Parts: sequence; structure tokens; C-alpha cells
Amino acid sequence: MPELPEVEIIRRSLEGRVRGATIAGLHIHRDDIVRAGRPIAEWFLQTTIIRLSRRGKCLVFSCQGPDETRHIVSELGMTGLWLYDKTLAPSPQHIHVDLLLSGTSSQQLYYWNPRRFGRIWFLHTQELDAFCQRRFGPEALEIKESDFVALIKGCRGRLKPFLLDQHRIAGIGNIYANEILFRAGVHPHAHGNRLLNSTCHRLFQATHQVLQESITAGGSSIRDFRAPDGTLGQFQNSHQVYQKEGHPCPRGCDSAIKRLSGDRSSFFCPSCQRKR
Ligand SMILES: [Zn+2]
Repeated sequence: MPELPEVEIIRRSLEGRVRGATIAGLHIHRDDIVRAGRPIAEWFLQTTIIRLSRRGKCLVFSCQGPDETRHIVSELGMTGLWLYDKTLAPSPQHIHVDLLLSGTSSQQLYYWNPRRFGRIWFLHTQELDAFCQRRFGPEALEIKESDFVALIKGCRGRLKPFLLDQHRIAGIGNIYANEILFRAGVHPHAHGNRLLNSTCHRLFQATHQVLQESITAGGSSIRDFRAPDGTLGQFQNSHQVYQKEGHPCPRGCDSAIKRLSGDRSSFFCPSCQRKR
């Protein structure tokens, strides 16, 4: 959290405001969230933001400098946000970066993160390409069905940690992995290489449906998530199994939702979710 839908909400909200803006100031209040070996503020000063893209759960601000494009890669971790206004931050002391823009209606952006798991990288284009190659498999909403099925068939272990592995498929975290597996009727401990083709097809469809529905609903507002203008997401109201331990199965099968503990909790219906 934030996962693909929430980062996409942030991207869509920010894009219209930042594209074409010039960076007039970049103030970093905490050095330990920054991964870069160069004097950052100077490197970005007077560059123009030409693109705001998303890769997995990272936001990438691409900035045109005098002779090259330079990139600010922002990972939001468990709790990170980008906000238009300081007063939207749940706790202002956790604003770690101020980005001052000129040439747009929004003059300032704030990166807020109380837990400091989020990181920011400052990269050349070649470094960005290497960064993405190292960290991300294909995008969950862009991969073709045939490639998705081949990927799943190559999973010899449990499916749930496989879906969470950003090197395999990028963008899915614990909330959406639980919801996708329930929608597809697949047990979190199912092995990908043992699934029937029809099950792989359902899993592909469920991945698209759940992620798209969440984007349409503004994401899931869990742990302080809000859009840059403060709008809360609504998809948490549509969660079927995530954090619903003990609730009756929403499909009406007479079972209750169970929780499997591990490093990331799994919520599932023992009757509706199968291992094939
Ligand atoms: Zn059920």
C-alpha cells in the first residue's frame, strides 16, 4: 500500500498540473530517503517536467535538462503520498521533500511519508532503464494474456507470493493479490504450474477487473491514502476478503473468510478458492 491503483490515481491527478512546469526549487528535508550520488537540487533546477509515468508502484518525473533528460523516481513504500497542500498531510513533520514549480497553477508539491520506507532516486535515462530492468517484471495492466499465462505456468511454488514479487509482475501488493485470488476463485497456496488453463484465464481477467475497478473508485484509502488534492478513495468499501477474517463469504457459500498468517496475511474463502 499504495499499490498500482493508488499510484496511478496519484499519477493521473498530478500529471495535468506538473507537465510543462519548470522545477524552481527542490528541498529535501531527510537525506536518508534519497538514493543518489550527486548534488540533487542543482541537478534539477530549471529542468522542465515533460512526463509523469508509473512503473509498478513507482512514480517517475522525467525532466528535460539543458542537454539530457533527468528522472526523479519516487517509491511510495507503505504510506507515501504526494500532496498539493501541506495542510492535507496527516502529520506535517513527515513531509520529506518540497518540490517548487513554476509555470503551472500548482506551485508546490509535497512528498509525505511517516514510515520512511519510501525512497527517491535521481537518475539519468540509462540508469532509469537499468533500475526498471532490475526491479520490475511486466506491468500487471499491460501484459498480454498469453504472456500472463506463461508466467503463471512457470510458478512452481505458491501463487500469492509470486503475484507479490515485483520482478515477476509489477504493481500488485497484498490487498489486491488477496482480492484478485478471491475474484478468480484461486487458493493463495495454489501452485501456478498446476492451474488449469481456464483458471489461468480467470486469474488474468480478475487481475484486470480488480485493478481497473479500484482505479475507477479512486483506489483504496487504507493507512492514510488520499489523492494529491485530499480526495479519499472508495475501493476499500468493495473489498471482498482483505481484512474480512470471520465475515461470511460474499458469494454466500456458508463459509467464513479465513486468514493465513505468513509474512503477508492472506484472506480467502476455504470453499470458493481452489488449488486447481
Ligand atoms: Zn465462499
